[in-house]
Amino acid sequence: MLLKGAVTMDIKVPRGTQDILPSETGKWQAVEELIREQCRMYQYKEIRTPVFEHTELFTRSVGDTTDIVQKEMYTFQDRGNRSLTLRPEGTASAVRAFVEHKMFGYADQPVKLYYMGPMFRYERQQAGRYRQFVQFGIEAIGSADPAIDAEVISLAMSVYQNAGLKKLKLVINSLGDTDSRVSHKTALVSHFEPHIAEFCSDCQNRLQKNPLRILDCKVDRNHPLMETAPSLADFLNEESAAYFDKVKEYLSILNIPFEIDPNLVRGLDYYNHTAFEIMSAAEGFGAITTLAGGGRYNGLVEELGGPNAPGIGFAMSIERLLLAIEAENNEWSEQSTLDVYVIGLGEAAKKKAVELTYQLRQKKITAEMDYLDRKMKTQMKSADRLRAKYVIVIGDDELEKESVMLKDLATGTQNLIPLSSLIDQIKTSSTQLEAEE
Ligand code: ATP
Ligand code: MG
Repeated sequence: MLLKGAVTMDIKVPRGTQDILPSETGKWQAVEELIREQCRMYQYKEIRTPVFEHTELFTRSVGDTTDIVQKEMYTFQDRGNRSLTLRPEGTASAVRAFVEHKMFGYADQPVKLYYMGPMFRYERQQAGRYRQFVQFGIEAIGSADPAIDAEVISLAMSVYQNAGLKKLKLVINSLGDTDSRVSHKTALVSHFEPHIAEFCSDCQNRLQKNPLRILDCKVDRNHPLMETAPSLADFLNEESAAYFDKVKEYLSILNIPFEIDPNLVRGLDYYNHTAFEIMSAAEGFGAITTLAGGGRYNGLVEELGGPNAPGIGFAMSIERLLLAIEAENNEWSEQSTLDVYVIGLGEAAKKKAVELTYQLRQKKITAEMDYLDRKMKTQMKSADRLRAKYVIVIGDDELEKESVMLKDLATGTQNLIPLSSLIDQIKTSSTQLEAEE
């Protein structure tokens, strides 16, 4: 209803955020359900953690030289002068909870968790990049078996495959263990140091603190020294190389094709050994093609005050998953969701319609009716638009006979049905319908 004299509102959603309208939420729910189902198949259990955490959690785990911590966090002081941050990712919170609730003492190890919820990063908005986005991620904590690396990767792949995606590319790399990384780091510093003045100020800062991240720089990616940089692969010690070989072997056993990219380093500090990304190879996907990223983080649990429990996980955003579905032109067939549209003609019949609509809903039959006193013809149009299976019409005649006119919109047939057997009738023909489909 329009209010006379109302001022026009010019407040819009904040940049980088979006409203997901009723016409879109069906897709979201379908994808979320598919994800939850995959997690059930693989026995990952949901964990729900707060949307904000102590800022220190992220500076310590994600790392204070990363883009996330340096540029992207929504950090604020609360009224008690605590520094809090809207979570930019999910692993830190999951691991914090793992430590806080002593999940390392659970009888069943590894602990397999998943989360799905909004994350916040102050980023430049573009297609596939938002300031609030929904991430689904899993964490398997407490096992250093390369078979679980393959399990984690295969769950991510399964989600995309079950969403109908075919044009997928899995890229993996090994970052090695701490020893391998230290010797690689020394080599990187010697490689970049003589020419560091030619690099962006971020890279200059990274040189001593975290030179590996120079390889991940988006500004300097075309600098000739990037291509000749010492590759981590050459610095993997025997143990790390053997671990990586096993991961590859398990992926082959699962028939999951992959490519190896020695420059895949991933943005977060806490990764070691296995790192991976899944990209969409669909044409017209746009500039950002990474759908999911993940890796192993042995050492993070200890860093956050827990025991030495190795972990691995990944995260993907629902936004990019939906973009990939669109890019591959896959349609989600929206199922008809309305069983019955109830039309009451006249005052007395209206009362019956209100009552009946309520009763149908109580019996788990989806039902809708008119609340605008519209003409029968207009109501029929509504029923069509809502893709109702049946329309029930109640007029004075039907009222008197304690019956209703039940019209099957697919076949066009209509029958007078006694109120007493109406619900049974709808239930049996609905199950018949489903069986035929
Ligand atoms: P990118 O290189 O695209 O910035 P990232 O390395 O920052 O990615 P991760 O932190 O690994 O991404 O997050 C894992 C996944 O979360 C990404 O692969 C992507 O699907 C999704 N994601 C990350 N940032 C955003 C964002 N701003 N908007 C939407 N999805 C995002
Ligand atoms: Mg990013």
